[in-house]
Amino acid sequence: MGESYIEPPPIVAPPIAPQEPGTVAVALDQDGRLAEDVACRHCGYNLRGLELAGRCPECEMAIEKTLHAFLLRFCDPVWLGRLRSGLMLLIVTIFAGLAVGLILGLSIMLLIGSTGETSLLLESAFLLLFAGIGAMQLIAYWRITSPEPSPLHEENPLSARRIARVGLIISTASGLLGFALDPDTYSMGTMEMADAPVQAGFAWTLSLLSTGSGLIGLFALFVYARSIALRFPADKLAKSTRLVMWGYMIPAAAAAIVQLATEAYYNTSMSFGGFEIALIVGQVVFGIPVLVFGIWGIVLLFMYRHRLKHALVLAEAGSTEQDSTN
Ligand SMILES: [Zn+2]
Repeated sequence: MGESYIEPPPIVAPPIAPQEPGTVAVALDQDGRLAEDVACRHCGYNLRGLELAGRCPECEMAIEKTLHAFLLRFCDPVWLGRLRSGLMLLIVTIFAGLAVGLILGLSIMLLIGSTGETSLLLESAFLLLFAGIGAMQLIAYWRITSPEPSPLHEENPLSARRIARVGLIISTASGLLGFALDPDTYSMGTMEMADAPVQAGFAWTLSLLSTGSGLIGLFALFVYARSIALRFPADKLAKSTRLVMWGYMIPAAAAAIVQLATEAYYNTSMSFGGFEIALIVGQVVFGIPVLVFGIWGIVLLFMYRHRLKHALVLAEAGSTEQDSTN
């Protein structure tokens, strides 16, 4: 208690450019030098003890650039380009999937109306189209979740980006596998397959795998997208992303549980009972918010596309500037 010495608190630097939200604050010592370990974003050299205005002694890159790394406009343009092309491809596959689904539904309705039965050839052709869209979606997810080169902080092994990548790819791949192994069992659903319990069980297991990993992957993708929005920086977009995430995921998960439970029950029993009502009620009650937030989610994708384009232009301008000063 007798000690009169008080250790001075560490001085925290103001953000490098205070008008820009999204710049990182770092601890400085009393001489205004970096008082924590910060690896140079270009070469990994530890910049501790150096002045903010200086350059990396190893590679000559401005220390400011490392400290700005949180903002996407200071990130690797090649990586940003990959995110952008993945996002564009995802938007294309969503609209292609909706269009093909709509045309399939209409043509089956017309066919049943005129001939009283569906055509296997027609359904096979549409299955192939859906498989092509699924394959494109695999590429889109792979690009969107590609790892950031030399990130500011080391990435957690269970980061949202990694969970999204694994979840969405397992989901899409198991859906494609279902088509490839037995299109009929998979496409007709398990409803007509109660007389073939092994096939129905197989299809059900694949749809459980596809739905479960898809829901987990999509949730992680929302979380990851939100972290990207903060780095534009676009706080409003980040807030909307969180709202759409909960608004879409909760009813989508509930609808999936009702669907899977109904199919599992129907696989083991010929009678439908109360489950038919549960399925219809579930589809209506959960379908409406899924539709509303789904449309909102697509609008957000376009906003991300716009922001990414902007960040990419700035990043490309910044990297040529760095090349010319080196
Ligand atoms: Zn360096």
